[in-house]
Amino acid sequence: NVKKHFPVKDSALFAKPTKFVKAVDDVSFEVKKGETLGIVGESGCGKSTLARLVMQLIRPTSGSVVLNGQDLASLSEQELKKARKSIQMVFQNPYASLDPRKTVEQLVMEPLVIHQVGTHQERVKKVQELLEVVGLSDYHATRYPHEFSGGQRQRINIARALALHPDVVICDESVSALDVSIQAQVINLLKELQAKFDLTYIFISHDLNVVRYISDRIAVMYLGRVVEMGTYEEIYHNPQHPYTRALLSAVPKESPLVKKERMILTGDVPSPMNPPSGCHFHKRCPYATDRCKTETPALELFEGQHLVSCHLLGDIS
Ligand code: SF4
Ligand code: MG
Repeated sequence: NVKKHFPVKDSALFAKPTKFVKAVDDVSFEVKKGETLGIVGESGCGKSTLARLVMQLIRPTSGSVVLNGQDLASLSEQELKKARKSIQMVFQNPYASLDPRKTVEQLVMEPLVIHQVGTHQERVKKVQELLEVVGLSDYHATRYPHEFSGGQRQRINIARALALHPDVVICDESVSALDVSIQAQVINLLKELQAKFDLTYIFISHDLNVVRYISDRIAVMYLGRVVEMGTYEEIYHNPQHPYTRALLSAVPKESPLVKKERMILTGDVPSPMNPPSGCHFHKRCPYATDRCKTETPALELFEGQHLVSCHLLGDIS
């Protein structure tokens, strides 16, 4: 039940904010050890805010984030620093996320230095191991980020993220800036590393096509809420929510996954500052009824592990 409502600054300087952007509005999910949960939605739907909430880089307005039985939202900054070792993030932009003045060795070693893990000698050795597991070598250790391609830079970022032996790795659009062939290489690497180190992934992307190669379960978000969630099979072979269907039908036609008719989404995602009433999706939904304009559909169990938030659940063929 995590919520993050950002106050919107009023023009009157010291006025109490009366408007809020409900970036994440009552989202619940569970991720099991060794599993990958994909989180999908268009930009502005709250995915990155959700990632930052899971990491507690920002604190929730309400709700809790529980890792191995511990509620992270209740920890002090000091306790949180320790807990954060178990959750690491691989960010979106491989060109902006690495300090250009540092060598690869310094970059990968940084988390070990910050958390005071090992002696310098041990850290040097650890960096060698990490570079090797991500498919780089000693030869790369003394080089600088600008000497690497986007894909290699994401490998450096992944090595950094693994330095502290995390349980959970959050990938926020980690492959989105890469060419399709390089995306596949990085996704394969992430899968290998998951098997090797028993990692749990939260894999965020605007692209259902990317998420399908790595996710066991998928949550589809729209304007701060989860509108559909289920296993790979449930989401890709039996999508129920009109929004998920629209996203899937944007996947290239030759994809065997697309059995339904093509459904084109019209209009932009409405502003999260002023979301439509009732079902947030009603202004873009071809099936919307009057009820959809006033009543918010609950996220209900459809079948199996499949949850859907739509008044017409089961009635749309
Ligand atoms: Fe469309 Fe109504 Fe279902 Fe929302 S609740 S997705 S508007 S049919
Ligand atoms: Mg984002």
